[in-house]
Amino acid sequence: MWTLVLNCGSSSVKFALLNPASGEVRLSGLAERLGAPEASVRLERDGQRTTHALRGGAYAEAFDVLLAELDTLGVRSEVSAVGHRVVHGGERFSAPARITADVLDAIRACVPLAPLHNPANLSGIEAARAAFPGVPHVAVFDTAFHQTMPDVAYRYAVPEAWYTRHGVRRYGFHGTSHAFVAAEAAALLGRPLAELNLVTAHLGNGSSVCAVQGGRSVDTSMGLTPLEGLVMGTRSGDVDPGLHDYLARQSGLTLSEITAALNRESGLLGLSNVASDMRELEAAAANGHAGARLAVDVFVYRLAKTVAGMAVALGRLDGLVFTGGIGENSATIRAATLRRLAVLSFEVDEAANAAAVRGQSGLITAGGVPALVVNTNEELSIARQTEEVLGHGA
Ligand code: ADP
Repeated sequence: MWTLVLNCGSSSVKFALLNPASGEVRLSGLAERLGAPEASVRLERDGQRTTHALRGGAYAEAFDVLLAELDTLGVRSEVSAVGHRVVHGGERFSAPARITADVLDAIRACVPLAPLHNPANLSGIEAARAAFPGVPHVAVFDTAFHQTMPDVAYRYAVPEAWYTRHGVRRYGFHGTSHAFVAAEAAALLGRPLAELNLVTAHLGNGSSVCAVQGGRSVDTSMGLTPLEGLVMGTRSGDVDPGLHDYLARQSGLTLSEITAALNRESGLLGLSNVASDMRELEAAAANGHAGARLAVDVFVYRLAKTVAGMAVALGRLDGLVFTGGIGENSATIRAATLRRLAVLSFEVDEAANAAAVRGQSGLITAGGVPALVVNTNEELSIARQTEEVLGHGA
């Protein structure tokens, strides 16, 4: 039996059909620019890629192409469940949930906390339930893993009523990835996850760090929204909360314009003024571009500072895990971060670090506290969680 994993954004659907037990991927793909005339869907199976134009370009057309492909493969009747990535589950969800009317209401109630993501997730779920009516659908939340954080980690020092009335607290994101790589790291280290105090660093276009104690999140760098914490591709990460008022007065920008710029024009892009993409920045920095150099240096400095802060949450550090596009591929960023973390005594194994790229995982230190590269697999994790909720026991 196969589990279909869906990640529905406002104009895209990422999907994968996989076996939760073996991890085998039968079909995967991405529908993009939904809602626009140039909407298309790209399918990949057996290493072959095909692209189809989508007339109309709504979720429903994307699912029609997917259904037709499942028929071609003869596996439509073998899809046993659909797992949906949902960004925000608020304080209500500390675990995945089978989708019912009540669960949909609860996801809707979290829309103010994730005004861009949750409405897209909801529209995707609605269209997917119409396309796959005969099977259970499960919501897997980005925030759920972090619901084990203690109040000292999740409360902001702001008026209590902001928390009780408006839910102003730290929630954290990337939970599926942090949970998955922590478990994989334990296997690589040959130690039970329950005994390990790990820091996991998910470094992609969005980046966050998590303190994982015995497999449970005890602190993370993202907060009320995915804007808090590390420097990211186009997101600023931490800034002084006084910035908004100051800049609004100085520049005449509105609060929403400032927030949009902090989300879309800041981070690596804002610092470098050339790119948000780490590969491009590393190349530009190597060619002597000062802005690119600064962007890389600030990224690394803030990352190292945040990792060191997470050691406070853990008391003892048994390992640092790198994942995400940057964490899995950039030996330079990893080495620079470990050098900055001299206080935690990592001994980088240069050869092992250089080799851990393009899908190669493993230890990258020769002594001291272990640092590892682990490839994240959010689709597989969502598929497994989906099957677990349904009691199919993956
Ligand atoms: P997303 O968060 O959108 O899922 P990814 O996890 O794929 O993104 O990460 C994208 C980031 O990974 C980009 O900044 C990209 O430049 C970076 N990246 C991918 N490969 C390399 C590489 N070989 N060296 C440095 N950075 C890389």
